[in-house]
Amino acid sequence: MLKINNIEVVYNDVILVLKGLSLEVEQGRIAALLGSNGAGKTTTLKAVSGLLRPDDGEITDGEIWFDGQRIDKKDASDIVKSGIFQVMEGRRVFKDLTVEENLIAGAYTRPGNTVSTGIERVYNYFPRLKDRRSQLAGYMSGGEQQMLAIGRAIMAAPKLILMDEPSLGLAPLLVKEIFNIITTLNREEGTTILLVEQNANMALSAAHYGYIMENGRVVLDGATEELKANDDVKEFYLGLS
Ligand code: ATP
Repeated sequence: MLKINNIEVVYNDVILVLKGLSLEVEQGRIAALLGSNGAGKTTTLKAVSGLLRPDDGEITDGEIWFDGQRIDKKDASDIVKSGIFQVMEGRRVFKDLTVEENLIAGAYTRPGNTVSTGIERVYNYFPRLKDRRSQLAGYMSGGEQQMLAIGRAIMAAPKLILMDEPSLGLAPLLVKEIFNIITTLNREEGTTILLVEQNANMALSAAHYGYIMENGRVVLDGATEELKANDDVKEFYLGLS
């Protein structure tokens, strides 16, 4: 469904951050993208969602394909319309809008979505958001804002969600809850997910396939069961040795 072929990304004309990165996400699957700080994970998601462009000299080589169409030359709004939604790191929500207004705004990123059924679906996943529906998003806790950010993605009913570090800064119980929802979304709605995570344990448990990147390239990939059994992955990513 998503195919990244040998992408190269350069920042400020000089810093080569992605050095020929390739990966694939199969329809209906969760793929995890792991790697140390600065490896280029967020950059990879931004290249897919159109926040980095060949026109601006940022993508300097390679191709990105989604659903049989080449998308690396499209702009971000067309990429959203084609069914890709990015949940940014740091829970970008509209802080001056209420929870429910944030959800409604999420639906408008893709025309043809029914707002009311979407909202009910989100409230089913996150009853806490229903309780706080009239509260300004800026006053929600970090965990609640993360739920809202994912809720906005559900409203957009995308084919593919790009999820950037959903566990960042959350307490362990909440991390578990968020990952439960990610896997349910995949299992029950068939949403394909590319998941960037520092929490390798959770990511490899939730995903079907994993990619490990270092320094702008994929250095290891495989079914998550294989990766969990790999000695290097155990030592460097899972904290076992
Ligand atoms: P983390 O896990 O720390 O979020 P990451 O793997 O997501 O890391 P990226 O955010 O993709 O890494 O960054 C990769 C490299 O590109 C880093 O060295 C970073 O400093 C650099 N970088 C990111 N954004 C820019 C930018 N807009 N301009 C210049 N350099 C950037």
